[in-house]
Amino acid sequence: MKILVINCGSSSVKYQLMDMEDEKVLAKGLVDRIGIEGSMLTHKVNGKKYIIEEPLKDHTKAIKLVLDALVDKEHGVIKSMSEISAVGHRVVHGGEKYAESVLIDENVMKSIEDCIKLAPLHNPPNIVGIEACKELMPSIPMVAVFDTAFHQTLPDYAYMYPLPYDLYKEHGIRKYGFHGTSHKYVSKATAEFLNKDLDSLKIITCHLGNGASLAAIKYGVSIDTSMGFTPLAGIAMGTRSGDIDPAIVTFLIKDLKMSTEEVDTLLNKKSGIYGLYGKSSDMRDVKKAGFYEHDERAMLALNVFHYRIKQYIGSYIASMNGIDAIVFTGGIGENSFENRNGICEDMDYLGIKIDQEKNNNAVGIEADISATDSKIKVLVIPTDEELMIARDTNDIVNKLN
Ligand code: ADP
Repeated sequence: MKILVINCGSSSVKYQLMDMEDEKVLAKGLVDRIGIEGSMLTHKVNGKKYIIEEPLKDHTKAIKLVLDALVDKEHGVIKSMSEISAVGHRVVHGGEKYAESVLIDENVMKSIEDCIKLAPLHNPPNIVGIEACKELMPSIPMVAVFDTAFHQTLPDYAYMYPLPYDLYKEHGIRKYGFHGTSHKYVSKATAEFLNKDLDSLKIITCHLGNGASLAAIKYGVSIDTSMGFTPLAGIAMGTRSGDIDPAIVTFLIKDLKMSTEEVDTLLNKKSGIYGLYGKSSDMRDVKKAGFYEHDERAMLALNVFHYRIKQYIGSYIASMNGIDAIVFTGGIGENSFENRNGICEDMDYLGIKIDQEKNNNAVGIEADISATDSKIKVLVIPTDEELMIARDTNDIVNKLN
C-alpha cells in the first residue's frame, strides 16, 4: 500500500510518498511560494533532486504538479495515481474533539473548520490542502492527523489555566499542546530503542526545532506539554518568547502604546533566541557566535534557552514522580551536541549525566548519550512526523477493508 503524506502551509506543500510494505520513502519534496512569484517544486527521488519552476496560483495547482511529478516518466515513482491508496494530511488543530487520527468526511471537515478560531494561521491552509486533494483524487480515502491529538490525554488540572472557568467553557481557552505527532513517534521509537514496553516508561521528549516543545509521557500517554493554547507558550524558541509574565502584554499595549498586531508580531516573530541575540534565530549561527566567538548576547540567548528547558525537565520529573529517559529530537535536538550539553549540565543531582564523546558523535542518528553512571537514559532519536502520519493513515484505511 502506497500512502501520500501532505503537509500544507499557507504558501507551501510538503509531501512524501511512502510504500508501507517496508516503510520506504519513494519520493518526497516541497512546493514553495504558492501564489507568489517564483513558485517551484523541488522533488527528490533516491537522493536525486529535480526542480520544476512554474507559476502556481493555488494549492490545487501545486498538488496537481506534485501528482504529475510522482507519475512522470523520468523522475516519477509510480505508473499511475491509482497506485496511491490513501492520503494522510497533517492538520494542526483538532480541538478537544480528536484524540486520534480520523478518516476525513464532511463532519470531520466541519470540525476542522470549527477549529479555525483556535489556529487561524494553520488550519485554513490544511483545509485548502484537503479540498485540493479531494478535487484531484475524489475516490481516495483521506485521513487527518492532528498535532494536538496526542496531548488530549492531559489531565484537567494540567490543561486548565487558572482563569475564569467560562473562558474555557465558552471559548475553549485551555492548553492543547502541539508537535503531538513528533512526541508520539519519538516516545514509541524510544521504547523500541531501549527494548522496553512503552507502558512501563516515564519519558520526557524534547522537540527542539525553530518551534520547540517538551512533553511528559507517562506509560505511553502525554500528561503534560510545554506549548499551550497556542504554540507561543513554553520554552524560548527561535523567534517566539515562550512563557512570560502575562502582565507584560498589557504593559506593551498600555504603556508602550503598541497595537495588538504589534504585540503579536513581537512575541511570535521578534522574541526568543532572535530577540535576545538580535542577529539570527538560526541555532547554528547563535551557537557559533556564543560558544565559539564568545559573543555575550548570543551566550545569553543560549543560557536562557538551556535554563528554561532544564526547568521544564525538572518540573516534568516532579509531574511524573520519576523518569526513565530524556530524549532529544528536532533540528537542534538531533544535531547539536553543544545544546544538549548546555541543557544536561549540572543535572547530576537528578541522575542525569551525559557522556561527552557519545554526545559529540550523535549527529542525526539514534544514540544513547548517557554516561555509564547516569541513572537516567539520555537519548537522541530523530523524529519522523511523516512516517507517523503514514502509519496512522495506513492503520485507519486498513480497517476500512
Ligand atoms: P522546524 O521547527 O522548522 O521544523 P527543524 O526541526 O528543522 O525546524 O530545526 C531547525 C533548527 O535546527 C534551526 O534553528 C537550525 O539552526 C537548527 N539546527 C540544525 N542543525 C543544527 C546543528 N548542527 N547545530 C545547531 N542547530 C542546528
